[in-house]
Amino acid sequence: MRKQYLLVLVFAGLVALFNACKMGAEYKALIVTGQNNHNWKASSPILKQVLEQTGLFSADIATSPDNKGDMNTFEPNFSKYDVVVIDYNGKSWSDKTKKAFVDYVSNGGGVVIYHAGDNSFPEWKEYNEIIGLGGWGNRSQKDGPYVYYTNDKMVIDTAAGRGGSHGKRQEFEIRIRNSEHPITKGLPSRWMHGSDECYSELRGPAKNMEILATAMSQKNAGGSGRHEPMLMTISYGKGRIFHTVLGHADAGGGPALECAGFIVTFQRGAEWAASGKVTQKIPYDFPNAAGVSLRAGFKELTLEEDLAKIVNYDITKSTKYFVDLQSRIRNEATTPEALQKFEKLMIKILEDKAATDDAKKLILHEISWMGSDLSIPVINELAKNPQLKDEADFALARLQPAK
Ligand code: ZN
Repeated sequence: MRKQYLLVLVFAGLVALFNACKMGAEYKALIVTGQNNHNWKASSPILKQVLEQTGLFSADIATSPDNKGDMNTFEPNFSKYDVVVIDYNGKSWSDKTKKAFVDYVSNGGGVVIYHAGDNSFPEWKEYNEIIGLGGWGNRSQKDGPYVYYTNDKMVIDTAAGRGGSHGKRQEFEIRIRNSEHPITKGLPSRWMHGSDECYSELRGPAKNMEILATAMSQKNAGGSGRHEPMLMTISYGKGRIFHTVLGHADAGGGPALECAGFIVTFQRGAEWAASGKVTQKIPYDFPNAAGVSLRAGFKELTLEEDLAKIVNYDITKSTKYFVDLQSRIRNEATTPEALQKFEKLMIKILEDKAATDDAKKLILHEISWMGSDLSIPVINELAKNPQLKDEADFALARLQPAK
């Protein structure tokens, strides 16, 4: 091995060690799970990954005994954590554990109620005040009103009826109802969510609760025909609660969890619950009203991944990676220097003998508006290739307008 290379390796090792040791994550999260009518074995590790990839959280998972086990042995130490995520829908906790949880929230602990977490504990009064709204478990008018939106106004409806339902799973549009809250500030006002259950007809005390986002529960899919709450905040004592009804999990997760909109609102909601503020930037792949945005592996794409995929692009493939690159350029390139950083990466693709012609066509079009003299030599070369001549000439004409 060459000496230089060895030095680089040693240095990389030291950097990794430094990163592992430095201060650690800002907040500690505890995901409570172990019983659920949902696939908690799939969802809890995904929620842990999603929290930790923000760099803000380290997350533990507290797994309860199964529904035949002795619940008295389940005593998570809530007070050690900044936020507790409820991915649990099962047997009642012991009185001691219930009291510890209520004390934790009252004293200022953060909570995230996730999907069927709001099905849990229909008989536990304080828990229902913490979640604001819940469903199933024989919930009815005795548990509180329905809360929904009609004509852009919140309605509190005390009509008799069941608590909790959902139509068939499908993609649906989320509508932000409060864009001033730290969790939702800066998000598109409407965005498409990956195929999921649109919870409807939830009921509960709804005290100290604010609705951040709703979705129309489509009648033709078996829903309520109302704009139902999807994202909420609740305050309980000194505690902050973020409640997302989104994220029905299949084995492996599935589109409800892969949705960048689910992931990002979960991450932002958890930070807010832990601290009262949100410092995370809104990523480029956040969905809009035009369509859903799914993250394979639940991770945001990196620029390196975009570039590696674009090199192999052909017109039968999705332009997802190219669109991601375009978003980066539009969002980051506010100075000539920043534009040039991207231009240099794109020149590399244009020079790459292994890159496809279709990839080069995409790049030529993009570089035609944001490139500079730096690009001219390689584009002149490509203009000699009959497959690329039209796109190369187009780019040259835009980069060298007639004087
Ligand atoms: Zn579900």
